[in-house]
Order: sequence, then C-alpha cells, then structure tokens
Amino acid sequence: MTAVGNAARTTARTVAECLASGRTSFSFEFFPPKTAEGERQLWTALREVEALQPSFVSVTYGAGGSTRDGTIRVTERIATETTLTPIGHLTAVNHSVAELRQVIGGYAGAGVRNVLALRGDPPGDPQAEWVRHPDGVAYAEDLVRLLRSLGDFCVGVAAFPDKHPRSPDLETDARFLVQKLDAGADFAITQFFFGADDYFRLVERVRRLGCDAPIIPGVMPVTNVAQIVRMAQLSGAEFPADLAARLQAVADDPAAVRAIGIEVATELSERLLAGGAPGIHFITLNRSGATREIYRALNG
Ligand code: FAD
Repeated sequence: MTAVGNAARTTARTVAECLASGRTSFSFEFFPPKTAEGERQLWTALREVEALQPSFVSVTYGAGGSTRDGTIRVTERIATETTLTPIGHLTAVNHSVAELRQVIGGYAGAGVRNVLALRGDPPGDPQAEWVRHPDGVAYAEDLVRLLRSLGDFCVGVAAFPDKHPRSPDLETDARFLVQKLDAGADFAITQFFFGADDYFRLVERVRRLGCDAPIIPGVMPVTNVAQIVRMAQLSGAEFPADLAARLQAVADDPAAVRAIGIEVATELSERLLAGGAPGIHFITLNRSGATREIYRALNG
C-alpha cells in the first residue's frame, strides 16, 4: 500500500457524504477488463472522467464472481492512483459467507469504503432459477447486514424502476428495496431504464413506505442497438417501441444511432434532474465519449 493509498483509506469520501452535500451527483460505471487492450481503454476512459471530478465511479463484479480479483485490483488502483472515489460492486453468487468476508476484507485493505451490495444472477443463464451457495446468503439484504457488521462501509443497493424481473409486482419490489435500505444501506442506484415517470413512481412508492434514502437513476445511452436490446431483455428494462423504431430507421449508420442515443439519454437525464433526482449514474461500458457528451450538455 502506497502513502497515497493510506491517505485514501483514512480520508476517502463516502458516497453518502457526497449525496448529503446537496451537490448534484454525477457518477460513471465501469467493468474490469479481461485483456491488455481493454485495460488501456478502461484507463483512458477513467482519466477522461477524472477531469470532470465526478462524485464517484463504480466497478462491476463479473457474473458468478468471475472478475473478483479484477474488480478489487481496478477499484484499489482507482482509490490509490486517482482523485476519484470508487465504489466496488459485490455479488453473493458462488460465494460462501467466509469468501464474502475475504472479498470485503480485500476492499477494506485496498482503502475502498463504498460497496454496492448485490445478490447477482445465476452464472451462465441470468434468467435461470437462483440457487444460493449452501454456506452463502440468499438476498442482497443479507449482504448489506454482513458489510455493516464488518466495518465502516458506505453501502449501496440496486433498485429497479421497471421492477426486478423476478418480483411479482411493483409494490412487492419496492417493499424488498426498502427492506435492503432498512437493513443498513445508505443509497440505491437503479438499473438503466427509459421512462422518467417509471423512476418517479418508484421513488414515490419507496417514500410512501416511509423510506427517504437517495435513489440515483442509472442512465445508459444507446450507442449500439443490438447490445442494448439484449441488455434490456436480460435486465427487465422496457425498451420503448418509438425509440426502437427511430433507431431501426438509422440502423446502418452508427454515427446516427449514437447521436439519437445521446439525445434521448440527455433528455431523460434533464427530466430526472428537473424532477428531483439526486444525480445521474452513467453506464459507460468503458467508453466515456457518449456519457461525457451528455454530462457536458447537462452542465452547460
Ligand atoms: P435482491 O435485492 O436480493 O433481489 C433479488 C430478487 O429477490 C428480486 O426479485 C427481489 O424482489 C427478491 N427478493 C429480495 N428480497 C427478498 C426477500 N426478503 N424475500 C423474497 N424475495 C426477495 N450484477 C452482477 O453480477 N454484477 C454487478 O456488478 C452488478 N451491478 C449492478 C448494478 C446496478 C446499479 C444494478 C441495478 C444491478 C446490478 N447487477 C449486477 C444485477 C443484479 O445482480 C441483478 O439484477 C440481480 O438479479 C438482483 O440483484 P439484487 O441485488 O437486486 O437482489
């Protein structure tokens, strides 16, 4: 651990502190790359967003724990070598409680104070039946409690404006979200979605249940039609028919697809912020160009 790392450990800001400051939160999500070229692309994108001084950046945890080491390595490097505040994602898939404790210890040792606690999806087929590890935890709520019991972590959880695909209905989905927040989470970040009103209705349901935790909307600009349609199917996000038709009309022109994606995501972000969202969490897919354009449009 470098001197900067030690400093990061003691002085690192938490996401809860950023949100409490009242400043609109802008954040960016990345994934740990598998190749040297991917690593270069990630670090180019990270340095580009660093210049914007976002509230935080987050690093995903690969399906089934497949990127465990990569996630911790990238998150630690962000904590020690940049001015960015990192959140490490963590899922319960394929991990016993003892292994989860080890990963959480790895985050603490790396000076990472912010963790997004997720249940995760079954590896291989995300839509298959969820089976918990025999010595593991069943729901994200249990992971929140585990993190809370192990140290001074700032904990986030996932939220779903279009409801989690496995939840029977929107009300039940909101109740489970409130349970996770009541278990000790400080904030939630949503799955990407396309309808601002779906986000506002989720916030309303959560407030009606007596919970006032910040819920940060996740926004992903469409820059590649096939990829987003597939991701929307897997995540349960509803892909609007009118947007699909607009994109289909220019499907052979990548620049036009990208321009529509940026325009739509900018309009969505503007509506969300005007309606009281505490910030925007941009899903970058490790390329910061489109999300930086939206950031600039939002910040004049
Ligand atoms: P949970 O909150 O545990 O919910 C899972 C299901 O169980 C839901 O249907 C819920 O309604 C139900 N449920 C919850 N509590 C109870 C209960 N007490 N009793 C009965 N049913 C209950 N996946 C990754 O693999 N890696 C990542 O890095 C990652 N990052 C993500 C980031 C964000 C912002 C979001 C929104 C999702 C992310 N995901 C990631 C996907 C996530 O792991 C999946 O959506 C997963 O299916 C649900 O995770 P969860 O934490 O919401 O689970």
